[in-house]
Amino acid sequence: MSKVLVVLETAGGQLRPHCLPGITAAKQIADARGQELHLLVLGADTGAAAEIAAAGYGAAGVHTITDPALEPFTAEAWADAVIHAVKTLAPSVVGGTASSTLRDCLPRAAAVLDAPLCAEVIAVKSGDTFTRPISAGRALLDEKVSGDLVFFTARGSEFEPAAAGAAAPVSAIEGASVATRGVEVVGIRKTESSRPALTEASVVVSGGRGMREGSNFKVLEDLTDLLGGALGASRAATDAGMVPADLQVGQTGKIVAPNLYIAVAISGAIQHLAGMKGSNTIVAINKDEEAPIFQVADYGLVAKWEEALPRFVELVKAR
Ligand code: FAD
Repeated sequence: MSKVLVVLETAGGQLRPHCLPGITAAKQIADARGQELHLLVLGADTGAAAEIAAAGYGAAGVHTITDPALEPFTAEAWADAVIHAVKTLAPSVVGGTASSTLRDCLPRAAAVLDAPLCAEVIAVKSGDTFTRPISAGRALLDEKVSGDLVFFTARGSEFEPAAAGAAAPVSAIEGASVATRGVEVVGIRKTESSRPALTEASVVVSGGRGMREGSNFKVLEDLTDLLGGALGASRAATDAGMVPADLQVGQTGKIVAPNLYIAVAISGAIQHLAGMKGSNTIVAINKDEEAPIFQVADYGLVAKWEEALPRFVELVKAR
């Protein structure tokens, strides 16, 4: 029986939680094709992550490729590992959550193996037909991908994290030749934050160009911390240097789907909506009642943030 293989990421030996929706998408594909679900754990130290993967999620098998060259991440080395796993395991489908890592390495592996890739899947229609947004989310495309081997990436915001399932045996894949091919990671500048990761937070508070300058984000940070959420921003705000680029939400930033998304002084351009319109409840504060953000907002307040936010913070504090 052929298989559907999900690529899982590790950090410091632990499974990254954002991988779990990718397992759910792969399980739907496997069920639709009547094939087995298999998990592939890649990293310099896969032990703990493989154990977690093996203990649940209903996979038929968990496979590991452990190599020091897999950390820090380079698309070159990871693509080598994926290609080796495909040659060893002969799956019919390979994919995972559309994280920055898999968005980078899976297309390389697919290109080398001359296989099609359906990117940013938001729904599984059948074993070979998947729905994905096009034109920054203006339209949805049902795409049929055929061949003996196909790749996919699935939007983490559109699939539930994989639920616990039966345990699976773990086996190490040996013999991978993993090389970074001239790419050397010379430094990693990590944003240190006590807040939850933007893509994993249940509350996201985002600011836009209307915040005018970085220091004005302080009031948004206060609100974010009171709600235990993550801070986000529009591209206009990150491009203007008000906040770091890794806070950008949208088509070319992070895709988020929290329980609560609060958009402050953000107009609601289609490229921003592409990154947050899957949120459960959207609250918008904007001084312009015609701002397009109000078309997707569940609750809208037409007001200047300078007046609305201090009051908002006060009310949350008083809860
Ligand atoms: P603006 O559109 O300038 O809106 C500012 C808003 O603030 C206005 O609605 C205004 O009424 C309001 N405002 C001003 N002052 C106040 C005040 N005192 N109180 C309350 N409200 C106030 N954008 C993204 O966000 N994410 C992306 O990933 C992204 N990718 C892109 C990819 C491409 C290829 C392109 C072409 C564009 C992309 N953009 C993206 C940019 C996008 O088109 C918009 O330019 C951007 O989202 C606008 O950001 P904004 O809403 O903060 O700014």
